[in-house]
Amino acid sequence: MQKDTPIKIDHLGAKNCVTGSCHLMQISAARGRAVNILVDCGKAQGKDPELPFDAFPVAPEKIDYLFLTHAHIDHIGRVPDLIEAGFDGEIICTHGTKALLIPMLRDSLSFTQKSKQEIRAIEQRIDDLSWGFEYGEVFSLKKGIHFKLGNAGHILGSCFVWFKISLESNEDDYRVIFSGDLGCTDTPILPDPDIPDACDLLIMESTYGDRNHESRKKRIEVLKRCLTRALADGGIVYIPAFSLGRTQELIYELDRIGMKVPVFIDSPLGLKITKIYARMDECWDREARALKARGDDPINFKGLYSVERFGDHKKLLNMAGPAVIIAGSGMCTGGRIVDHFKHGLNDPKNDIFFVGYQAKGTPGRRIIEKKVPCRARIHKLSGYSAHADQAMLVKWVNSMPGPPREIRLVHGESHARKALVAALGI
Ligand SMILES: [Zn+2]
Repeated sequence: MQKDTPIKIDHLGAKNCVTGSCHLMQISAARGRAVNILVDCGKAQGKDPELPFDAFPVAPEKIDYLFLTHAHIDHIGRVPDLIEAGFDGEIICTHGTKALLIPMLRDSLSFTQKSKQEIRAIEQRIDDLSWGFEYGEVFSLKKGIHFKLGNAGHILGSCFVWFKISLESNEDDYRVIFSGDLGCTDTPILPDPDIPDACDLLIMESTYGDRNHESRKKRIEVLKRCLTRALADGGIVYIPAFSLGRTQELIYELDRIGMKVPVFIDSPLGLKITKIYARMDECWDREARALKARGDDPINFKGLYSVERFGDHKKLLNMAGPAVIIAGSGMCTGGRIVDHFKHGLNDPKNDIFFVGYQAKGTPGRRIIEKKVPCRARIHKLSGYSAHADQAMLVKWVNSMPGPPREIRLVHGESHARKALVAALGI
């Protein structure tokens, strides 16, 4: 960043790891108070650090805007705490994120000591403060700050944020992009990430900066092959999955495969979100829309069962296979998957398909690292990533009208960041 630029950016979370995203941009003005913008305020998972609010460079009540790149808990999970700590500014996100925000936070708050009444009050406050915006349009904030949200193709409503800041001391505008989480090209249901505008500073995620994923075609073949083999002995295939994004992708792909055994979505939150995905078909890609136009609901099929009530979940625990059970949480830190593992982890007929990133220290990672006794077979299906791989990240940067003056990599473990630095040649 130029020395005379009155913009200071601190990475308060997910600087060197992949959860707890939180970035602060302070724009000082020659006259009057600085404008403080927070981009994401996520919960950290596993051993990832979480900075207390009293250690923030500015107090929560001095934050003017909170931009949310998408509704995953590691990007929005601390919003209720931020409000309790004094934040009273505007929350800016896309319409899709606005639709997902309350259901996601309600679920997360249900694991706290808060009463139903307190949770309802927080939800109301968040609803009052938050605004949904269109993709691809430039909007103005105060003091010469403009922003535009680009489709990040990561989950429904995900965006990257482009800021243009008019500097009083300088003729040139200063442009910053926060990538948020970038999705893969050819993701089921969602369109590819938008081409970014030019910028001076790019703050980019690097989760999979050190590897390339299998193609979607290959990944479906692998899923099909693994399922056939795993279910042949009449066992159960457990798929721990994020309720938001991964669950809907899995339903979509299992629908394309054509399942011959029952598939259970044992996740009240996953079911609620699937309904939001189904409702917001304006956010779908061409393939999903074409299927719907032909009368084939792309995220529903015969043999797909919703397990909403806890009593039905209990019954499912003792059910004999073959069957597929999709349940949260994605990293096995809680939720109904934990009950399933208690029942089924030691049965060699069963299989676990890991289809998402397992952060350091989480139960999911410990199972993969064989630190937990487990007789079920473990499969890692790496192709199921909601994050762009190295080639996609490089291509995304190169698709800009010109190279950014500076690129800062965040949201990645050190080996991934190092590999991406080399691939980008920075
Ligand atoms: Zn995400």
